[in-house]
Amino acid sequence: MKRCNVCEKGNMEQVDDITLEIEGYVFITKGERCTICREEFPFEQETAKIILIARKLGIWPEPLKLYRHLSKSGSGLVFRIPNDLEKQLKLDEKTEIAISKLGNKIIIEPLS
Ligand SMILES: [Zn+2]
Repeated sequence: MKRCNVCEKGNMEQVDDITLEIEGYVFITKGERCTICREEFPFEQETAKIILIARKLGIWPEPLKLYRHLSKSGSGLVFRIPNDLEKQLKLDEKTEIAISKLGNKIIIEPLS
């Protein structure tokens, strides 16, 4: 049996009734629970499934603003598109974009 690494006394037992609450929705998932401190660890692949479902339901909180640094490449500055935006907007290296300036904001608009 696996030892709990939170209290270091209990054993981790496999359970299938871990509850995760996201925006008022309750998900039941599989994972491990410590027999002493009751700390719960949902299995990673189970958590990933829930995130997917939550996204489909539109309840996964999406960041409204992302903070990123620009990086230097050659003589220019490079802006990296965050991964989740890349996936959401289905961007790839062939995506054509339009860049416009609005006041002190930069708007990046995928065209395809
Ligand atoms: Zn424990």
